[in-house]
Amino acid sequence: MTYQSPIAPGVSFYEATLDDRPAYPGLAASTSADVVIIGGGFTGLQAAHHLAAAGKDVVLIEGARFGDGASGRNGGQLGTGQRAWPEELEPEFGREASQKLFAIAERAKAHLKSFADSHGFDADFRPGQISVAHKRGYVDEYRDHVRIMTEEYGYPHITFLDREAAAEKLGSARYHGGIYDAGAGHINPLKYVVGLARAAAKAGARLHETTRARAIVSAGGKVTVKTDTGEIVAGRALIACNAYIEGLEPVTSAHVMPIRSFIGATVPLGDSSPVIPGGESVDDSRFVVRYFRKSADGRLLFGGREAYTSDNPADISSHIRRQIAEIYPELNNVEITHAWGGSVGITLTRRPFVRQVMPNVTSIGGFSGHGVMLSNYCGKLYADFVNGGSDDLEAMRNLKVGPFPGGDKFRKPLLFLALTWYSLRDRF
Ligand SMILES: Cc1cc2nc3c(=O)[nH]c(=O)nc-3n(C[C@H](O)[C@H](O)[C@H](O)COP(=O)(O)OP(=O)(O)OC[C@H]3O[C@@H](n4cnc5c(N)ncnc54)[C@H](O)[C@@H]3O)c2cc1C
Repeated sequence: MTYQSPIAPGVSFYEATLDDRPAYPGLAASTSADVVIIGGGFTGLQAAHHLAAAGKDVVLIEGARFGDGASGRNGGQLGTGQRAWPEELEPEFGREASQKLFAIAERAKAHLKSFADSHGFDADFRPGQISVAHKRGYVDEYRDHVRIMTEEYGYPHITFLDREAAAEKLGSARYHGGIYDAGAGHINPLKYVVGLARAAAKAGARLHETTRARAIVSAGGKVTVKTDTGEIVAGRALIACNAYIEGLEPVTSAHVMPIRSFIGATVPLGDSSPVIPGGESVDDSRFVVRYFRKSADGRLLFGGREAYTSDNPADISSHIRRQIAEIYPELNNVEITHAWGGSVGITLTRRPFVRQVMPNVTSIGGFSGHGVMLSNYCGKLYADFVNGGSDDLEAMRNLKVGPFPGGDKFRKPLLFLALTWYSLRDRF
């Protein structure tokens, strides 16, 4: 029977079509290490690999299976830059800091590709990313963005698409224009997780699935992580739990909150399909972003539906099919073979949360839907920091991220109200 993640709804297309997903044993007994990592997504596994490769004794525990969080179930899209465009960061951070943050994101993109290449695994990387405007009024911003990126940020891979050019690239006349970015692209995220975990194990990291951290105590220069099967005592800890943190550590819980996002995979559309003939990935300008691309076997993988409570929609497929048909009316009856969801970790400013939350305990997460390349890179940066220091991690730490308002009691209802309000604006 196909594996079903215990922490997220639906069997993903990635899981259902993966040839080999090695299982890693649970923690059997108490142990000690130089570094303990909680969370086996991109962030935790990258940190484990790079620490172990530098000779550190590392133990990583994952409550479910590697990739069961966001990392193995996402849209697989790489976006250039931080989540906000550089010109949006400039008023607050200034030109120099914004350029530095852009350069960090470019290093993150390069790292994602070169890591897979150098470790010899294939995650179905395909180049090309298209961002499109669902309202006519946004088109000028896209045009300006292309000019700023090429002239002021020295990024040569981006071009403006007018309405006709966007329609040609998408195989749909639904959008008003957009941008084409030859420097970005997309991957099969679960294949990446599997390759990354193998590389981390090979480097010597001790990896454990199905082992949930129940508590973290930092005292006397040591960190103790308690689980049902034993304690791990280490000099340092990394919390890489992202949206799945729940009550494990209160500072992270106050800054990183979950929203659910859902994806559907259609049957293969066939070689003659006009949908995204160039095979790029696409995202649009809605607050509740629609993100879609074709898989290596020609299916449309379409994400768009969100939920702001822990309830899951009764019928993910029908909802996704309706959204697909708004863009591709000819697909209004298309068969959806797989429908699944996952929790995206968001922060108030939609910037990653990187912080020391207790002595010797760092927490990293909250990539706000832009984590495929940034979470991988931040995991590596954490290892660089432990191995002697990292300017790039320091720059990410300096991104201002405040707690969600409302305290423990009202944080969730307030977020629900705010996001519902913003999502309604997409319709007008
Ligand atoms: C549906 C969806 C679509 C997305 N699409 C995109 C996209 O197209 N492009 C993009 O850039 N980003 C996208 N994202 C976001 C991206 O996937 C994340 O930013 C990234 O994967 C975060 O990686 P992570 O390792 O920090 O967290 P995660 O992958 O979420 O890993 C956290 C892990 O911690 C574990 N954990 C939590 N608590 C405990 C505990 N107490 N003990 C042990 N383990 C614990 C969880 O089980 C989980 O496996 C999407 C996310 C979702 C959900």
